[in-house]
Amino acid sequence: MRLILAIPACLFIATCVLDSGEWGRRKSGNLDPKKQEGTLATVALGNCVHPVMSAFIGLQEQVAEKFNCVEPGTMKSLSSLRRVKVAPGRLAELQAAAYESLAKIVAARKKTLAVRSARRTVAEQYVLHEWMLQDHRCGVSVSKKAGESNHLSGLAIDIEDDRGWRKYFEKYGWKWYGPEDPVHFDYIAPDGRDLRPSAVRAFQLLLNENNPDAPLAVTGVIDDNTEAQIAAAPRSGFAQGASCGTVDESGWINASR
Ligand SMILES: [Zn+2]
Repeated sequence: MRLILAIPACLFIATCVLDSGEWGRRKSGNLDPKKQEGTLATVALGNCVHPVMSAFIGLQEQVAEKFNCVEPGTMKSLSSLRRVKVAPGRLAELQAAAYESLAKIVAARKKTLAVRSARRTVAEQYVLHEWMLQDHRCGVSVSKKAGESNHLSGLAIDIEDDRGWRKYFEKYGWKWYGPEDPVHFDYIAPDGRDLRPSAVRAFQLLLNENNPDAPLAVTGVIDDNTEAQIAAAPRSGFAQGASCGTVDESGWINASR
């Protein structure tokens, strides 16, 4: 199954990749392009392309699909909403509660909402964070680390015209991040669920299915080993794509096929 991606609509890269979070300035000193050919690290070191996520769409889709195995039915596609358009290459999804809220927001204002970014995978968040660390390349001024952004839970959104939309978002359960990242809103109503550990777990499970001899601990936390494997992941996707497999009695998906 292929995920529904955003229709081409947007938007120069510099306006599409802002995110909330910590500031930092360092070079990615551990990344050697010649050793990383074909990996996500290559993308993080490479030219800024448009659409921004097209360089690793294969991996992006696999990790997103694996998340849907770990947390089935939690995300809803924005493509079913009138008056919402999403930047090309981005995952056009939000967590169900945030989606329902967004439907009320666009109905209330009766204008088209341009979404720069909604749900993300750890792969996408990794690239954005690396660009931020590399002197804010590719238009990324602010970005949280791969496992920490609310975008992973489908509970954050970056939009155009934040001034015009702000009062509508704040009425329906969202919080504006502030002038440091003005395009970013977090859904803070109590019916939203923190799914960031599941987003990390999805990558760890997918990696283990493709690397059974040296599996990662499936913790839902990005440790050094997991971060290294994200960097080394093939940008076109793993040999074995996402499979939902079997679920054991604890609710965890069995990584073996
Ligand atoms: Zn954001």
